[in-house]
Amino acid sequence: MGREEEENEEDELENMEQVLFQGPMYGRETDLKQNARLVKAALVPVKRMMSSALGRRAHTILLEPANGRFSIRFVIDGIPYPAGAVPGQRGMAMVQMLKVLSGLNPQERAAAQSGGIFAEFEGTKFHLLVSATPLKPGVEKLMIQVENPKITHTKASDAKMPADLAKQLRDFTEDSKGIILACGPPQSGVTSLSITALHCVDPYMYSVFSMADTGGKELTNVTDFAPEDGHDLEMSFDRVLRREADLIYMNPLTDPAVVQTMFNFADKVCFVAEIPANTPFEAIQKLIAWVGKDEVAKKVKCIITQKLIRLLCDDCKQAFRPNPQLLQRLGLPPETTVLYRAPSPPAEDDENAPTIEELCEDCDGVPFHGRAPVYEVLEMTEGMKAVVCDNFQLEAVKEQMVKDGMRTLQKDAIRLVAEGKTALEEVQRTFRPPAPAGARRRPAPKGKPRPRPRPE
Ligand SMILES: [Zn+2]
Repeated sequence: MGREEEENEEDELENMEQVLFQGPMYGRETDLKQNARLVKAALVPVKRMMSSALGRRAHTILLEPANGRFSIRFVIDGIPYPAGAVPGQRGMAMVQMLKVLSGLNPQERAAAQSGGIFAEFEGTKFHLLVSATPLKPGVEKLMIQVENPKITHTKASDAKMPADLAKQLRDFTEDSKGIILACGPPQSGVTSLSITALHCVDPYMYSVFSMADTGGKELTNVTDFAPEDGHDLEMSFDRVLRREADLIYMNPLTDPAVVQTMFNFADKVCFVAEIPANTPFEAIQKLIAWVGKDEVAKKVKCIITQKLIRLLCDDCKQAFRPNPQLLQRLGLPPETTVLYRAPSPPAEDDENAPTIEELCEDCDGVPFHGRAPVYEVLEMTEGMKAVVCDNFQLEAVKEQMVKDGMRTLQKDAIRLVAEGKTALEEVQRTFRPPAPAGARRRPAPKGKPRPRPRPE
């Protein structure tokens, strides 16, 4: 990087809001004085990178060595975007700086380390979870995950769960029996989903207990229930039932013995839990192996899953009039007059075209802003019971879901398209099957932000 360019960046830094680092997390300590040389070399670039990342709502920042340099990528709403590269020496110093700020040992480069930094940006507090992974001797890559501890989705309305779905879940709990499960791939917000499902019940009509370890997080209108020493699960369930529980929230279902006991009690009380499975089909497969298909058909009421879809930026989304064929294909009413799509990015070869950043300040040209969940609910209808007991195949489950008009992920995503919140292209991208291993990586989505404004 040329001297002049560097000075320009220093100016830019003074003009933009700065992230504040407020010490390492997890009770660790750091000594910046002892690392004065590192601080001098790398604190400013680290602050610049983090300020830019937080300003652009990145939830993950990746710093990785590539061809003698370090590439920086910001993951925004689940999509990684290139955010520039720095010379190798500087990149390594930035990695070490972030380790020092997290209270990790900068001399240790051969073992994976993880820690965290308390930070503040534009008046909001963040947790930056830092993990360093060695790639080869002396070379590490670094990942920072951004957590805003204040943002927790617990109520259906917070999590943007549609009212009809919340009512459906409420109806499932009405008789205080049976099992309601949430599933989904790791990192897809399954725990929040199970808590959202729990909060669909009417807290004035039903008493809800939690036997789950929520990591100190308090659930509104839910009574914590800790089993007494020496009591097994059956005795604990009996005790909760004596307190007239309608619903019990359980830890994620991983232990077959716990699941069997839970099924034994499911005709006396309703259970809500998450099950580690990518899809409702996989969840049923697991349950069949643990308790048998008859029990599953008899006691499971529904399995819900969700997927996050990026929402179009309200400031730059473009309206268009859909043709009748498209509406028919999507199953939307023919009187739909407007849908939305992302603006086309300026032509690459047009020097005079405004950059995407100039087109939209709100989203930095991404042109999406935030994500919303779409849902799928596998209901144990009479038809589905027959599929589970007699012909448990993926295709048969899918067919039955369509036949019984159940909410599927794809169908629910089209709801967001119809509401003008997302684009059809985004739905197609989300549901595109993953490329086979070894295949060429698909190019970055259209309208990706450029690392820096185009030169004058
Ligand atoms: Zn925009």
